[in-house]
Amino acid sequence: MTETLQYKIKKAIRDIADFPKKGILFKDVTPIFLDPNLTLSIVDEMEKNLSKEIDVICGIESRGFLFGILLAQKMKKPFVMIRKAGKLPAEKVAVHYKLEYGEASIEMHKGFIEPGKKVLIHDDLLATGGTAMAAAELIKQQGGIVLQYSFFVELSSLNGRKLLNNISDNIQSLVMY
Ligand code: AMP
Repeated sequence: MTETLQYKIKKAIRDIADFPKKGILFKDVTPIFLDPNLTLSIVDEMEKNLSKEIDVICGIESRGFLFGILLAQKMKKPFVMIRKAGKLPAEKVAVHYKLEYGEASIEMHKGFIEPGKKVLIHDDLLATGGTAMAAAELIKQQGGIVLQYSFFVELSSLNGRKLLNNISDNIQSLVMY
């Protein structure tokens, strides 16, 4: 990636202190999408690092839908939504998992991942890796293979990468903090 692109991305991402809870420094990516040229450059750059063997892209709610769908369109691959509990209308599969504080569930429509399909899991940000790990569980439940992970931002001090290495060692992040 060029230094200019890296600079533009880091300039656009805002740090919001104590959101959503005290002690968390929230990386706000929403200003990126005010600039359509920057958004397109990011999609181009992310796509360069993705495996050509991917059959399906799964995006994690909700910011994982943003670049997820753009990447799927660019690669001409199907896009599947992984949503928080209770949002999907049809028959679904679910995974319940622990968060740093509390618990959560994520869901996916049943039958959208055929057995043996090679999947890319995408989210905007990798922190502890708990959410992306649960997403891998959903895919494995349906017989899919998690080939690669893609994140826009990685908070490396939280060691999410180490956790996800149990699933795939192909983890691509565009911007590291
Ligand atoms: P984790 O499961 O800890 O890897 O958290 C990843 C999920 O939480 C992603 O969907 C992120 O969008 C969100 N997230 C966690 N920490 C942050 C943060 N510091 N700034 C922005 N989003 C975050």
